Amino acid sequence: MTGLVIVGHGTRSAAGVEQFAALVERVRGRGDIGDVEGGFIELSRPPLTDAVGALVARGHRALVALPLVLTGAGHGKGDIPAAMAREQQRHPGLSYRYGRPLGPHPLLHEALEQRIDAALAGADRAGTELAGADRAGTEPAGADRAGTWVALIGRGSTDPDANAEVAKVARLLWEGRGYAGVEPGFISLASPSVPAVLERLRRLGARRIVVAPYFLFAGVLPDRIVAQSAEFAAAHPDLDVRVAEVIGDCDALADLVLERYAEALGGDIRMNCDTCAYRVLMPGFADKVGRPQRPHDHPDDPVGHHHHHGHDHHDHGHDHGSVAVVGGGPGPDDLITVRGKALLDAADVVVVDRLAPQGLLAGLRPDVLVVDAAKVPRGPSMAQEAINEALVSHARAGRRVVRLKGGDPYVFGRGHEEVQACAAAGVPVTVVPGVSSALAAPALAGVPVTHRGVAHDVTVVSGHLPPGHPDSLVDWAALARARGTVVLLMAVDTIGKIASVLIEHGRAPETPVLAVQDAGLPDQRSVPARLDEIGAVAAREGVGPPAVFVLGPVVALTTTGPTA
Ligand code: SAH
Repeated sequence: MTGLVIVGHGTRSAAGVEQFAALVERVRGRGDIGDVEGGFIELSRPPLTDAVGALVARGHRALVALPLVLTGAGHGKGDIPAAMAREQQRHPGLSYRYGRPLGPHPLLHEALEQRIDAALAGADRAGTELAGADRAGTEPAGADRAGTWVALIGRGSTDPDANAEVAKVARLLWEGRGYAGVEPGFISLASPSVPAVLERLRRLGARRIVVAPYFLFAGVLPDRIVAQSAEFAAAHPDLDVRVAEVIGDCDALADLVLERYAEALGGDIRMNCDTCAYRVLMPGFADKVGRPQRPHDHPDDPVGHHHHHGHDHHDHGHDHGSVAVVGGGPGPDDLITVRGKALLDAADVVVVDRLAPQGLLAGLRPDVLVVDAAKVPRGPSMAQEAINEALVSHARAGRRVVRLKGGDPYVFGRGHEEVQACAAAGVPVTVVPGVSSALAAPALAGVPVTHRGVAHDVTVVSGHLPPGHPDSLVDWAALARARGTVVLLMAVDTIGKIASVLIEHGRAPETPVLAVQDAGLPDQRSVPARLDEIGAVAAREGVGPPAVFVLGPVVALTTTGPTA
């Protein structure tokens, strides 16, 4: 039968270690599983490697590894799998199935309910006689759930998904049990803190509060919950504040372990990944999306040693995050600058636009995180903010970020907004100019935007807003009077209207225009027309983005042949 290794994180609390060992013994005693060991990934004995080693020594080559964690946060998602990966290196051929976190589960909620009842009955945490209400005078034990508020205190995580699980448990604990209310709080890393949630309950009118630690075993953090609750109680003598015991070694927990074991073996792991910050962009957590897990460093462990002390080039500078806003050129892989390519090669994260050279992405190291800025959720106006936030948060996490844009970052690329956002956040940022489609698309189509004796000026214009639009900043009449070259970007929808206005203000109707679509890409094509016909011709020919329109006397010089 497949052996089970129960994996704990480890604690500095001797009581916590004892409870863990007792649970392993209880599961073993059930006799449902042939072979059971427990081990810790750090701080406590026995270490995981001994537990796995013992199972391997008894002939096991396939295991179930069950993370003894209540919620799926860093330990369950990253540290324990990393520790198991080291065991696989140590024992070639070893395979294992990974169980999911224990909670939420009705067995846990019942156990919590029992701990809360015990606290109401006066049997709260041994030796913690909290200051506060005159207990002798309060109603008899467990009497009045309707008058009892519960503060359910989770460990707290930088992973919002894990914190949300605690909020979910609070709700499930409240449903149908008759407490006045159950509010979640956290002892570290997340809010509300213990004093904050107690204060919230006080303001809601609570007179009696049971603080229920959502913890498996004793430890430093549960002790801190007791201390902070006692402090709050001392400051509010009118309140009855009690602290319930942790879940601890019990039959319900052993049942749950066995259930998770069976589930892992059955291949029925219903881990909820839909709200995982490593998969889904959540406000404030943009830097997590797609990140490979970076588990705890275990420098003493010879296995995997080289991972932690490697000095390959991409380990350098991790403490010094930065952003480079890089112009990628008009589309082909080889029209990026040498500097841009070097930064790209050294990047940890690449945030890429739709019009940036997609072919360059294929050359990135497999561990580089590519964030598709076109797919950043939220509405169009929020998208830029979300992108800025992603740049800043990745850089703050010590990563080298390349913001890869099409053409030149400052030519209608909103590049400077990103530079400003980084600068405002104190993140080092540089700009690498790129070959803009404004100049490159005409060139690739055989049109020189200037030519001696033909055009001494070239104006690059956004056609995004049509002439006459209240927000337009373009002086179309002045452009009509000028004699040189005009290059229009983002004008596929507006070209007809723009052409009319230019003619209205004096440009010759026969001025030659060339539409250049997909410049530099395999589908590149040119559509020529006179200024007074370009709107109709472009529509008829189905000119679509990305395309530039170049107009003026230089268009008459268009070369055909190898470059066209
Ligand atoms: N910063 C970019 C421009 C961004 S605005 C640059 O410097 O090139 C987007 C517009 O650029 C598109 O609407 C289109 O007009 C133009 N464009 C970008 N890539 C193009 C390409 N490969 N061929 C033709 N036009 C392109």
